[in-house]
Amino acid sequence: MALIAAFATPTGPRYGLVVDGIVHEWDGNPLTDRPGAPGQALGPLDEMPILPPVAPGKLVCVGRNYAAHAAEHHAAVPDEPMLFLKPPSAVIAHGAPIQIPAGIGRVDHEAELAVIIGRRARRVRREDAHHYVLGYTCANDVSARDFQQKDGQWGRAKGFDTFCPLGPVIATDLDPSRLAVRARVNGELRQNGNTADMVFDVPFLIAFISAVMTLEPGDVILTGTPEGVGPLGDGDVVQIEVEGIGTLVNPVEVVG
Ligand code: ZN
Repeated sequence: MALIAAFATPTGPRYGLVVDGIVHEWDGNPLTDRPGAPGQALGPLDEMPILPPVAPGKLVCVGRNYAAHAAEHHAAVPDEPMLFLKPPSAVIAHGAPIQIPAGIGRVDHEAELAVIIGRRARRVRREDAHHYVLGYTCANDVSARDFQQKDGQWGRAKGFDTFCPLGPVIATDLDPSRLAVRARVNGELRQNGNTADMVFDVPFLIAFISAVMTLEPGDVILTGTPEGVGPLGDGDVVQIEVEGIGTLVNPVEVVG
């Protein structure tokens, strides 16, 4: 397994390999190259100018994919995956602020395992799905709950700029079937789920989504959130942790 981080340099974005929290030089791109041996150490991950791990063409999200989370919204578990899209303009990196416009009501964190697609996938069979995965990262499906209820569909509620933190790294060759998924706000544990409790697992989701729309390299699937979602406010710090990947940290700002 390799952990790959994207970071900014004066000459443009680059990728590095992360070993024991330290980013090392790597002259490759995860969309085209297999990770090789790490080069020279560049610095601790948390001190590097980290970028989102990919620039997705689209973000396909799954609602109500954990039964206990559906129950906390008094919603039924669907008999098929319930899909929606977040715009690529919502994506921010590890460390960047989630900016909540003042006056939009309750805004929640949603800790999620994110799948990064590595090969064009169209009508993929469930048993072949893993061949199309580049790796996994952590996502926060930030959601304006009042708009979600008022609008009846979720484009506005989940589409604000900065409402999709992704990162901090891409974990390759990870088995997604039994990973702890946690959210902490100001250090307090709010969500503590496990991907084993998904209603529809990752291979099923890739097959289901790719029967609807072609998935391109760099596209991202957000696989749903476990129970324990809760509100965010100005000055909060949210940590989204997925076992085997790392912890995605973002401060929250309410902006006028
Ligand atoms: Zn979600």
